[in-house]
Amino acid sequence: MAASDGTIRIGLVGVGKIARDQHLPVIGASPDFALTAVASRDGRHEGVPNHRTLAEMIARHRDLDAIALCQPPQARFAAAQAAIEAGLHVFLEKPPGATLAEVGVLVEAARAKGVSLFASWHSRYAPGVEHARRWLSGRRIRTVTIAWMEDVRHWHPGQGWIWEAGGMGVFDPGINALSIATHILPPFFLTGATLSVPENRQAPIAADLHFSDAAGTPIRAVFDWRQTGPQTWDIRVDTEDGPLVLSEGGGALTIGDRLQPLPPEAEYRGLYDRFAALIRSGASDVDLNPLIHIADAFMRGERRTVEAFTD
Ligand code: NAP
Repeated sequence: MAASDGTIRIGLVGVGKIARDQHLPVIGASPDFALTAVASRDGRHEGVPNHRTLAEMIARHRDLDAIALCQPPQARFAAAQAAIEAGLHVFLEKPPGATLAEVGVLVEAARAKGVSLFASWHSRYAPGVEHARRWLSGRRIRTVTIAWMEDVRHWHPGQGWIWEAGGMGVFDPGINALSIATHILPPFFLTGATLSVPENRQAPIAADLHFSDAAGTPIRAVFDWRQTGPQTWDIRVDTEDGPLVLSEGGGALTIGDRLQPLPPEAEYRGLYDRFAALIRSGASDVDLNPLIHIADAFMRGERRTVEAFTD
């Protein structure tokens, strides 16, 4: 039940980087949502009640309709389960969980409780992605090359969880590339992988992944967190009609040699529009495909120990 004017009253858990950079400003500007409260172990957000835990927030705000979960994936399941149990719609940051099966349990719990569950993949809302998907639809694809190379010290300073089991290491950004690829390409599957894991960490700092689709199209993805200088977030698709290149994480699109005009960046606005539409139509949206590829890489990939990583 939303407020009488239809506004969805939302609480947020985990006041960290992505909550501050995107969720809180976008909720603040949204015509669909009103921020009721936040729950944070250490952080604070001015202007609304702050609680130490999700349980306390739920107990104090009986009028809540929805919860956005912005913590690392290892903390997501318990919070999502509690929110669903309280009858709240749930927005899951990416990746939707630390395991595939736990997300399946959430899907079933949300269905049983009659609430909406949204596994968000923000990169799918990058400006060039829908245009690329439409252009590729029905075209014969020859090869796909994905390069997602960035400097972990710049983008993830001091984030211990990302190196721990369940944190996924370089797959934390790499899953964004796979969320786009699984959206714009026909279904594909992993055929081999090499994961480079620092000797003092649990999660890879780099990964070299090989995939194929049913037609045998070679798809290669290279993720590397050791790139300093210019950063690369590119997907190149060679087709019978020439190349398509999505660069800047989906923020720029070139088809042939023509840079395509695109709308401005509004990934999180797109996510919250989608979440509102799901709630109002009584639906859920949980696509596990990007996470399946990561699980397959851990299951099928060779592990190579590389030099220790220190912040
Ligand atoms: P972060 O700043 O390191 O952590 C987010 C917040 O989660 C922390 O401030 C903390 O909030 C809570 N938290 C941290 N460790 C926890 C733990 N072990 N148990 C429970 N809560 C914990 O991370 P982030 O960069 O915002 O990323 C959070 C999620 O958003 C990840 O799944 C990531 O993939 C996704 N994401 C991040 C970005 C980005 O640019 N950083 C972009 C898109 C998506 P409190 O202190 O408030 O409790």
